[in-house]
Amino acid sequence: MKNKFSLDYFRSIGFKVAFIIIVIGILPFMVCVPISLRAYESVSIHTDATNLMAEAISYNNQIVTSGYAQGEDNEVLDTKLKSVADSYNGRILIINSALKIVRDSFMADIGKTVIWENIIYSMQGESLYHYDKETNYLIVSVPLVNSDGDIVGALVMNKSMDYMVQNEDTFYSYILIGAVVILALTIILAIFAHIYFSRPFKKMSNSLDSIIRESDTLLPEEKSFTEVENITDKFNEVIGKLHSIDESRQEFVSNVSHELKTPLTSMKVLADSLNGSEDVPIEMYKEFMVDIGDEIDRETKIINDLLSLVRMDKSGAMLNVTPVNINELIDHILKRLKPIAEKADVEVVYESFRPVVAEVDEVKFTLVITNLVENAIKYNNEGGWVHISLNSDHQFFYIKVEDNGLGIPEDSVDHIFERFYRADKSHSREIGGTGLGLAITKSSIAMHNGEIKVRSTLGEGSTFDVRVPLNYIKKEVH
Ligand code: ADP
Repeated sequence: MKNKFSLDYFRSIGFKVAFIIIVIGILPFMVCVPISLRAYESVSIHTDATNLMAEAISYNNQIVTSGYAQGEDNEVLDTKLKSVADSYNGRILIINSALKIVRDSFMADIGKTVIWENIIYSMQGESLYHYDKETNYLIVSVPLVNSDGDIVGALVMNKSMDYMVQNEDTFYSYILIGAVVILALTIILAIFAHIYFSRPFKKMSNSLDSIIRESDTLLPEEKSFTEVENITDKFNEVIGKLHSIDESRQEFVSNVSHELKTPLTSMKVLADSLNGSEDVPIEMYKEFMVDIGDEIDRETKIINDLLSLVRMDKSGAMLNVTPVNINELIDHILKRLKPIAEKADVEVVYESFRPVVAEVDEVKFTLVITNLVENAIKYNNEGGWVHISLNSDHQFFYIKVEDNGLGIPEDSVDHIFERFYRADKSHSREIGGTGLGLAITKSSIAMHNGEIKVRSTLGEGSTFDVRVPLNYIKKEVH
């Protein structure tokens, strides 16, 4: 649990923002400090080398004309070169054309031969410099040229660059102080950013906690980041939806209880009136028992419809899909409904444009067609008609159920697919409607990934259009 907490913390927005700020604060130091030190070093070496070479060249005439390079004694030059070498904490060498050291301010290596690349180049007329990082010395070599332009030797001057290293150390110590100050400021900034960025989310999480406990409130709308405001709005939308689902569930439960109680109340009244009266004629008993039987039928129908509806509410996995000949299915249903149509004096006409075989759940799809055709017969006038047509293209099949019956009032059209909704309550009850038929129809069509639409004009009739894919594709449930 503790481990999980620590991992979660590293993924939190507060930590990430703080981390980014610290990296941004420190990274320039880590990149800029070495670069600026390199630049300082290279500028110092180059400037010193240029100056040192110019100085070395300035001694050329004195050295060459006095024969100093050839071994002539010259105390003035001895002292001068010695003091110059000492002032640079370095060394001065004069090398003749045979690469032998003829003068050494250290007086240590006179007579020795030096074979060094730069000196060889200087013997050919080039002035060069080299910085030895290990010993920290700058070494320049320039040719010694006589008045005829012949190279008679080379002058080598060393200069200690300790001052540069000392400067770098001072620079480092300032940088270190700067780095500590900037790191401290960055950390303070990171802490503030951590608090600032995590606060809205923490608040939202706390509000959600209290919503979970009380289940009746909405998230408080607070001015914060746009993203947090958007999430708050979406959450409130979801909470609103949950409330309305809860309300509709409660309404459904109270509707169910009411619908189930109505036939029971009627039966109780009928039974009580028989029990309460004496010498009841047998005909009256029979009549009342027929009424009680009707109420039992009604109760059974409501329970059956409710069971169908509950089954529809389950996921598509409950569908038992097989290839079904829709033409035959409709023929079969119409044969079953024929007596009701004849009783109501309604003419039923079926027109099929082509043979249709589709992947449907036969039992559930039978309910769709039965409910639509039964309604078209029930909510019709004597002598009215019902037209059923079946068509298809390469993707869908289409069923149209049209009648010239009572029609549906405009303000009811949007509600007829709701459970227990009846456009005309008294008429619907009278003809045995439960208000569940179209809800069952719609759920069943939705399970088959289809659609149903209705057009109706009060007093003129109604048309229900159904469109269902020929091939059933199971939707993934996440
Ligand atoms: P019921 O069991 O009441 O028929 P339904 O869910 O099948 O329940 O229908 C809901 C309501 O829609 C009905 O009460 C009726 O008012 C209206 N309705 C359905 N089909 C038609 C139709 N073809 N013509 C007129 N009204 C209809």
